[in-house]
Amino acid sequence: MLPNDDIAYLKGVGPSRAKVLAAELGIRTCGDLLEYFPFRHIDRSQQSTIASLRDENQYVVLRGTVSNMQAVSTGRYRERLTVDFNDGTGTMQLVWFQGTKWVREKLKPGVKYLIMGKPTVFNGQWQMTHPELEVCSGECVVDSTRGQALPTTHYPLPTNFLPVYSTTEKMKQHGLGTRAMARLTETLVASLGGIDETLPKEIIERYRLLGRREALIAIHYPDSMQQLDAARTRLKFEELFFMQLDYQWAHSERQQHSAGRVFATVGEYFNRFYSEKIPFPLTGAQKRVIKEIREDMRSGRQMNRLLQGDVGSGKTLVALMCILLAIDNGSQACLMAPTEILATQHYYTFRSMLEGLDLGVELLIGSVRTADKRKIKQRIASGETQIVIGTHALIEDDVHFRDLGLVVIDEQHRFGVEQRSKLWAKATPPPHVLVMTATPIPRTLAMTVYGDLDCSVIDELPPGRQPVRTYHRTEPNRPKVFAFLKQQIDAGRQVYVVYPLIHESDKLDLKDLIDGLEMVQSYFPRPQYHVSMLHGGLTADEKAFEMDRFKRGLTHIMVATTVIEVGVDVPNATVMVIENAEHFGLSQLHQLRGRVGRGTTDGFQIAEADLRLRGPGDMQGLQQSGMLDLKIASIVDDEPLVAAARNEVRDLLGTDPTLAAYPMLQDYIRHSKNKMLWGKIS
Ligand code: ADP
Ligand code: MG
Repeated sequence: MLPNDDIAYLKGVGPSRAKVLAAELGIRTCGDLLEYFPFRHIDRSQQSTIASLRDENQYVVLRGTVSNMQAVSTGRYRERLTVDFNDGTGTMQLVWFQGTKWVREKLKPGVKYLIMGKPTVFNGQWQMTHPELEVCSGECVVDSTRGQALPTTHYPLPTNFLPVYSTTEKMKQHGLGTRAMARLTETLVASLGGIDETLPKEIIERYRLLGRREALIAIHYPDSMQQLDAARTRLKFEELFFMQLDYQWAHSERQQHSAGRVFATVGEYFNRFYSEKIPFPLTGAQKRVIKEIREDMRSGRQMNRLLQGDVGSGKTLVALMCILLAIDNGSQACLMAPTEILATQHYYTFRSMLEGLDLGVELLIGSVRTADKRKIKQRIASGETQIVIGTHALIEDDVHFRDLGLVVIDEQHRFGVEQRSKLWAKATPPPHVLVMTATPIPRTLAMTVYGDLDCSVIDELPPGRQPVRTYHRTEPNRPKVFAFLKQQIDAGRQVYVVYPLIHESDKLDLKDLIDGLEMVQSYFPRPQYHVSMLHGGLTADEKAFEMDRFKRGLTHIMVATTVIEVGVDVPNATVMVIENAEHFGLSQLHQLRGRVGRGTTDGFQIAEADLRLRGPGDMQGLQQSGMLDLKIASIVDDEPLVAAARNEVRDLLGTDPTLAAYPMLQDYIRHSKNKMLWGKIS
């Protein structure tokens, strides 16, 4: 059989099972089946004995003979079939409820069988229901899932390691349980042709990788655990290699085709700001990152840089200084934030920090009055406005810049790919792009996923920040928690109480929030205490009003949904109570924590744990892109392989940019579906 052959023609499949395989697993060709990897193997040589069984429901392999078959009628066409199975150390009862007629005809006393399954104790005796069963000699095979005869194998079973596949209920109903799947892969492997090598020879040699054909067979039927490992390594490497090839190819394509504007000078705005406006020394990390960004912006290539750093690590300040660099070089700059609150907050921060520098700073958000909006847009078009801060409103078609040179995007994961490419189109050559995020994306992931995005990390907090302490408290402790809040408030501090968005509908969330608000208010009665509430259902004005009251210390408690996650800085707020914390992801909790105290433990470790728990596909923003659909490799667990694949691709493209010496890789690129997607990002 060849990889492109229709799976229906594989012996043992046929049209109806082919339909089930396609519907349940997307398996349509022999190649698809070949790449449906088992999730584990049973070592048939590791046989147990009945006498040594201890635990129920552990998968075991036993070898013995059957006797004393009994059928008891349990309905009109139904019966329960039992036989005694003896392995020389003890006896176990085997039980069938289905396919009993066939089992009755085929099971022969005196024949040695290998049985596999999970034993249980019933009436003080070991028993196994619907065991998987094979004749030891490899002659006749019983498919226990339906009791149907499947084609007899004409060659010895390949190895001692029996592959175990995930199957669905529907598959089982059609005789496609894990053993049946194993028999299909076995048939396929025995007649497999047309598997070509895809990796360059020197790479295979350098890492001593198995060949592709050998690996694809061994991952189903390994001779040994070592060979299974080698097969997995080879297939993981291959997967990561081609993922890297997609990204890096797109990256170099873009570098060749997108010249960037050159910001050669450090001018008056930057220098005056640096010497007159910053009341504290920059951290080492801030200095390093500004230098990296400067290098990019004068390189002649368009910058695409991700700036990572915890909440409070000073990213916004770095962004502001880069914006001044752009302005010093005659360009305009904009900063795009995901919410109106955050945009407004940035606007006021910028205004106060830039006071006296004689710069046109403007806020453009949806809730600005139409007449004002028109005027703002005119000033942007004329160049009178040098810095624009806003939300999505910035990417609307009627926003024209005189000369947009730098785009800063805060919390990039809230913007889709398409939105970002719209910003790109607002200037020729395209503006430099700096993406700021507080989500600590692990380095490996960032480099893999943003393979074509450069990455700067602020890994140092300004001095003097208090570390945040985290406690987990259950409902009975609520009075104690609230007593603590009271103590803080009475000492002049402010607190947050945060509710997760749990429900599909905003209405239900609002109800939770309002219930919560009432509860908080009952503990903190007026007129002594004042409580604010902030949630997605409020208008921008209402939000700004509530936020402002809290900021100015007029309210003591802010009850909110996660809207505060995206950036509200109230230094006087020292405590945050997170209700139903189990509904938040770890990265989200980490961001919330950043709202109080500002210190932090290692965010990267948290992100990695989060990734393990939720899977990378679930990281915000990555989900929609669906580009991390890895079959066998794991970005988190296979870090060394990720690095090796990345380096190999880099070297390859470095010495042979068109891949002239590698027709098979060129061919891959030509057919790759990821190419276009990544060429367009940011
Ligand atoms: P981020 O955008 O990473 O959340 P910000 O740039 O908003 O961080 O900085 C948080 C606070 O810390 C701001 O009040 C800012 O003025 C202050 N800050 C920034 N850099 C420093 C520094 N090097 N030393 C002291 N304070 C700083
Ligand atoms: Mg910030």
